[in-house]
Amino acid sequence: MQEIQEVLLTPEKIAARVKELGAEITRDYQDTGKGLILIGILKGALPFLADLIREIKTPLRYDLMAVSSYGVSTKSSGIVRIIKDIDLSIEGEDVLIVEDIIDTGLTLKYLVETLKSRRPHSVRTITLLDKPSRRVAEISPDYNGFIIPDRFVVGYGLDYAERFRQLPMIAVLKPEVYS
Ligand code: 5GP
Repeated sequence: MQEIQEVLLTPEKIAARVKELGAEITRDYQDTGKGLILIGILKGALPFLADLIREIKTPLRYDLMAVSSYGVSTKSSGIVRIIKDIDLSIEGEDVLIVEDIIDTGLTLKYLVETLKSRRPHSVRTITLLDKPSRRVAEISPDYNGFIIPDRFVVGYGLDYAERFRQLPMIAVLKPEVYS
């Protein structure tokens, strides 16, 4: 695709890491005797969730949630609006929130707090990508695919103006795409 400036993660590298994460999660949850519930955050985490569930060999269910931040002015407050909530009850269950990327961490922090109030047995988090240099909220994921530098990335679910989600790799776009 001509708009791509640089490929940060190839499809092969992503697939290999997702396999490792799946194995790790399988090990961590196989003896709990509880039902693991993965909650994918729309829209960006969809490809990651779809690939990850097929690498987890312990029983699981998954659900989807869509959120949006209130905008730039209230971003620092970390208030997030739930646009689509999950259908499953998570009370007493082990929950794993599946995110595409953690940037400031405000979205994930809000999600963890909101879901904890529903009295699950546990809440953990997994993200494919992490930009720790941009962190505002005090939160770090329990499972992390890749630490990346502070650059705006697209592909494998991540968009720019709703485009590029279908790219099989994680990439940086040419500057002219944004202008
Ligand atoms: P946070 O609350 O951690 O700042 O925001 C996380 C959300 O910001 C992600 O779920 C994603 O929607 C968006 N985001 C952060 N960094 C990037 C990026 O590099 N590329 C894209 N496409 N979205 C990003």
